[in-house]
Amino acid sequence: TEELHIVGGGMAGSEAAWQAANRGVRVVLHEMRPGRGTFAHKTGNLGEMVCSNSFRSDDHEQNAVGLLHWEMKAAEGLVISTAYKRRLPAGGALAVDREPFAEDITAALTSHPNILISHEEVTSLPDQHQWIFATGPLTSDALGQAIAAETGTEALAFFDAIAPIVHADSIDMSKAWMQSRYDKGETEEEQRAYLNCPMDKDTYEAFIDALLAADKTEFHEGETAGYFDGCLPIEVMAERGRETLRHGPMKPVGLTNPHQPEVKAHAVVQLRRDNALGTLYNIVGFQTKMKYGAQTQVLRMIPGLENARFARLGGIHRNTFLNSPTLLDASMRLKSRPNIRFAGQITGVEGYVESAAMGLVAGRMAAAEITGAALPPVPQDSAHGALHITGGAEAKTFQPMNVNFGLFRPLEEKLRGGRRGRRDRYKAYTDRAKAAWTDWLTDTAQAAQAAE
Ligand code: FAD
Repeated sequence: TEELHIVGGGMAGSEAAWQAANRGVRVVLHEMRPGRGTFAHKTGNLGEMVCSNSFRSDDHEQNAVGLLHWEMKAAEGLVISTAYKRRLPAGGALAVDREPFAEDITAALTSHPNILISHEEVTSLPDQHQWIFATGPLTSDALGQAIAAETGTEALAFFDAIAPIVHADSIDMSKAWMQSRYDKGETEEEQRAYLNCPMDKDTYEAFIDALLAADKTEFHEGETAGYFDGCLPIEVMAERGRETLRHGPMKPVGLTNPHQPEVKAHAVVQLRRDNALGTLYNIVGFQTKMKYGAQTQVLRMIPGLENARFARLGGIHRNTFLNSPTLLDASMRLKSRPNIRFAGQITGVEGYVESAAMGLVAGRMAAAEITGAALPPVPQDSAHGALHITGGAEAKTFQPMNVNFGLFRPLEEKLRGGRRGRRDRYKAYTDRAKAAWTDWLTDTAQAAQAAE
């Protein structure tokens, strides 16, 4: 049978190799470390955790990531079983002793009779054989360029730029008002898409001073490399000139403050509705590297946001990810090059567990294709299915995401307008998912047997 090549021995590539090899496929796992590193990885081990040592909540009844743990365990996942083996006490979270964890993953893959490990950087998308690219958020530059050449630069992002998100009910509407710039948008709904916070000259000047003085997180060496030019942090814009923000995201044009119609604002901070319910608003263009403490202080200087509660603070991170909804088919293959699959964070999921889960699915899909087994589609109601290419996400606004119940198909009763408490709802989601996943594993095993 044909060999499967997997590029990247992180969370996703390690799991994909394990799953495919256990289905009788010969795997070559290409990992560039330790010869070529990234700014975040420290060792040459497979399955290295680059930052925190937590797999987050292990509650498989009430939490979507805990449910993913459960499903991966049921599918005999290497990453999850090793995490349980190297578990550290941490309440309800699954915390892991990181070095023994990565050493165990490395040992399991190295000693597997169907797996060959090759320590080298892969820099192109080959025409021959089946490949899974699981090179993660820090995909090497040469490979990133090769992928961009195939997908177009629009469809491959090199960073996340996260604007802070505010709870709408914490905004002081005696100062802020709703209006879209130049009253664009026909329906009232569209007009309510924006909230505005006005600044006079003194407030603006004080705000710029605070931005310049705020504590910031530094970019890692090698993290920036020209990636952020189209999306500068607000404090960097302020460094470029005190008026830059007033001509950029804080421009005061096309807006009239109904609280003071005769006064022309010196600058305006705009917030855009962030969810259908209108309970959350993000601050437009306010991606920032300010530390969280400094960020809340500086942002609360904005008139109307003095008592703001933040659902998420801003950030900018190096993160290579594809616009999966446009580029990949249901089997995680590149539509334009079906011998190439992608898995892990590069497909637009976020987090160790989610990345490993997408490796699990991609490894099984590739193995089925090679062995001629008819793999049934990953069930939409399972956590893997909800996450799979992030659940039929909108291509235009595609952004990486952790697994969450918002990605799941609504419960039947919700469709009928019924109500249940949150605990009951979450339990209903996880019960439904476990049943669907268990059925899928059974069907998959039968399909593999039939192919033998
Ligand atoms: P990785 O685990 O990064 O694995 C990709 C592998 O591919 C690496 O081993 C890399 O060396 C290799 N590789 C890259 N290019 C090539 C090439 N051309 N040829 C051969 N090999 C190559 N997630 C969390 O859940 N918790 C956190 O605390 C967290 N912190 C993070 C901090 C940073 C700085 C970053 C960048 C990410 C963080 N993440 C965190 C996200 C985390 O990286 C992913 O969740 C997870 O590691 C992604 O798994 P992956 O397998 O897709 O990529």
